Amino acid sequence: MIKKVAALTALFIVLGCMLMSNDSLRSYKKKRNFKDTSEPKGDTKHHKADPNGPIFVIQKHDASHLHYDFRLEINGVLKSWAVPKGPSTNPTIKRLAMETEDHPMEYATFEGVIPEGNYGAGPVIVWDHGTFDNIKEKDGKKIPLQQCYKNGQIEVDLHGEKLKGGYALIRTPMDTEDKKKWLLIKMRDQYADARRNPVSSQPESVISGKTIEELTSKKKLKK
Ligand code: MN
Repeated sequence: MIKKVAALTALFIVLGCMLMSNDSLRSYKKKRNFKDTSEPKGDTKHHKADPNGPIFVIQKHDASHLHYDFRLEINGVLKSWAVPKGPSTNPTIKRLAMETEDHPMEYATFEGVIPEGNYGAGPVIVWDHGTFDNIKEKDGKKIPLQQCYKNGQIEVDLHGEKLKGGYALIRTPMDTEDKKKWLLIKMRDQYADARRNPVSSQPESVISGKTIEELTSKKKLKK
């Protein structure tokens, strides 16, 4: 009897873990029709971790409003924020970052045009990418990234092509009904630079070299 109870308990724990791991991408899958969009389905259970550290990606996305999707690998998914004005390299500028649904790891290399009538319809390019280090500490000890996310205080050191150095994501108390509002702020370090503005001076993809406009016009020419 005790063995049976123990076996059942173990089974429920395993099932519970499986459900929890899927749950994170449920919203992502629910919003999309994969017969229509070429975005990744998010079915891959395991992804190969990058030996150089967790990855980040910033996708420029011209949907109903142009924005930059800032994504950080946390616990096997890409935690995501939509940043309307894009990241700044000036530490005195705070950029609004609206939290959006978790994206699958495979999304990090997605570029293309999401067809009309679909969620987020419009062109997407990989504006910047790379690995990052969690640098949030308390009393000289690293705080695990998942905990930083829960605390609403994330500090990462980005190793991107356009963005480098410390960035902070700070949760604000001004959530709307369905959206959590955060702020994305450049931290003060050797890479802080008020004169740079990569959002306007380096608009192209770090994968294909294409701009959002080139992706869109290519689609129009095909018609
Ligand atoms: Mn987006």
